[in-house]
Order: sequence, then structure tokens, then C-alpha cells
Amino acid sequence: MTLDNILEEINKANSIVLMAHENPDGDAIGSCLAFYLALKQLDKNVDVLVKKYAACYDFMPGIKEVKSFTDVKEYDLAICLDCPEINRVDKEFKQYFDNAKVKVQFDHHARNTMFGDFNVVDQTSPAVCQILASSFEYMKFELTKDIITNLMVGIITDTGGFRHSNTNQDAFDFASFALSKGVNIEKIYRTTLTTITPQKFELQKLAMDRMEFFADGKIAFTYENFADDKAIGTAPGDNEGIVEIGRTIQGVEVSIFLYEREDGYKASLRSNDYVDVSEICMTFGGGGHLKAAGVTLEMSFEEAKSAIINETIKFIK
Ligand code: AMP
Ligand code: MN
Ligand code: MN
Repeated sequence: MTLDNILEEINKANSIVLMAHENPDGDAIGSCLAFYLALKQLDKNVDVLVKKYAACYDFMPGIKEVKSFTDVKEYDLAICLDCPEINRVDKEFKQYFDNAKVKVQFDHHARNTMFGDFNVVDQTSPAVCQILASSFEYMKFELTKDIITNLMVGIITDTGGFRHSNTNQDAFDFASFALSKGVNIEKIYRTTLTTITPQKFELQKLAMDRMEFFADGKIAFTYENFADDKAIGTAPGDNEGIVEIGRTIQGVEVSIFLYEREDGYKASLRSNDYVDVSEICMTFGGGGHLKAAGVTLEMSFEEAKSAIINETIKFIK
């Protein structure tokens, strides 16, 4: 089984590098830190590469150990987490995956390109952290309270606090196990999902104010640009979850949130019932899951807005 091979490679490796997708969310950071702490049990030299992340993840065990830079040219083993394809990792980190002697990945996105030598990919899993929970058990890593806390962050954030349709029995079972080990679920939930920065609050107000509706109220659209960031003073992570606002409105099937990036506009899409938003994003070279997907549109705002809305309209019944 793949996990036996991976365990063998872990045991053989002296130097290991961990990475996840750029703009890391709770599942990306949680899986990196959980794996880091697990590999430390085996006394391995491990680097976790993470760039800018939201301050709400500052409480996570091991977060102080992450690096945004490394001198090691060639790792024995690279492990990529929560990425459907290797180009989704930070541009500067990709070389460390490519140059590693052995390449491994764990993921749960639709249409994963199976880019590793060993691939553990389960689309039905709500979070990579959920895949790691069972994988760690199989590989006989000790599930310490710190590791469980990190895994719980990924499961809670990727399921939107057990609200999204990807929430399965394994997620509840693991939460129950975490509780039995004294993990503070309420604190993780509040810190990562409920509490927002004052800047994010301002951003939410702006996003609500600008909300437009298309296709008889079945599409909700809003946006944010660099000028807003400057005026509000937003920090990394403040635009995470803004797309959820549109989805809560009765009658809305797809919610779209556009936000400016160096290379154009990032589109975040969410659906409620029948639209496969990953398919819409794939048209433009992006991807994701059935009900949560994204893509970067290298276009002006007006072009990006009409392109994404026009494509979405095709999927509305
Ligand atoms: P987001 O809207 O950024 O929260 O992303 C929603 C989901 O789509 C996540 O699972 C992302 O990993 C995935 N996703 C976002 N952007 C892209 C992209 N450019 N290519 C592939 N998947 C993406
Ligand atoms: Mn993710
Ligand atoms: Mn994920």
C-alpha cells in the first residue's frame, strides 16, 4: 500500500521538506504542522515552508518553526499537502519539491494531477488533515494533543465548522476523539472561524454594500481591490471567507468574490446545491471542489467580472 511505501521513504530520509498551497488556509497550515510534529517524533531534519498566513493561525502548535526560506538545495524527501497540482505551491517553494529525491503528496481536491512519486488522494475526504489523521494512525505515529489540535484546525476550517456538505462521519468521529484527548474545539472554532479582525469586519461591510445579483438572484457577486486594501489596512487572510456572505442569501446558488492580486483577479466561488464550481474555474485554468473552487484571472477587473459571471450563468438552471 502507498502508505507503507511512504513510511519506508520517511524512515530512509534524513532531510524532509513540507509545503502546501500558497495563501495557506487552515487545512494547508494544519496538515504541514501536524506532519512536522509527527516527523519530529522520528528525529528527522524537517523544514516546513510557509509564507504569509493569517494571524488567526498564530496559536497553532509548531507555527513558530515555519520557514519562508531554506538553504538546503536537495531534500531526500518532499511532501506536498492540500495541492491539486504542484504549481499551486508558492513559486519560490516549487524547486524544493522538484529537486527532492522522492516526492510525496496528500490531497483531497477534485482532479488532482497525481504529480508525486507517491500520491495519497481522496476526493471524498473533507480535509487533508482528515486523511492525515487516519494515515498517521496507520503509520503508527503518536497522535499527541498538539498534532490533534493542528489536524482539528484543518477539519474545522475546510468544513466551515461542520456546516459544508463535505462534512462526513469521519470528521465528527475525529472531533469526538479530539474532545476525549482534551483538545479545546470551541477555542479552535472561535479563533479560526468566528473571530474576525476589525479590518475584516470593514471588508465584510464593503463586500455586502457592493453585492450585485445576476440570473434572477441565483448568482451573487462582490469584489475587493488594492485600493480597498490600502484604505482598510487589510492583512493576509482578511479576504478569506468573504465569499460565504453571498451564499447565505436565499435563492443564491453561486456566490462569486473577486479580489485583486499582483497577477490579476482571484475569483473565489461557492455553490449551494447543484452547480459544480470547480468545473467553472477549470475553464479558466483553476480548480477546487464541487462546492468551493477558485481561479486567478489574469485580466482587468471588468474583463474578469464579465468572464466569470457569463461562464457561471451557463450552469444555472
Ligand atoms: P478559495 O476560494 O481560495 O478558498 O478556494 C476554494 C477551493 O478551490 C480550495 O480548495 C482551493 O484549494 C481551490 N482553489 C483555489 N484557487 C485555485 C486555483 N487557482 N487552482 C486550483 N484550485 C484552486
Ligand atoms: Mn486548502
Ligand atoms: Mn483542504
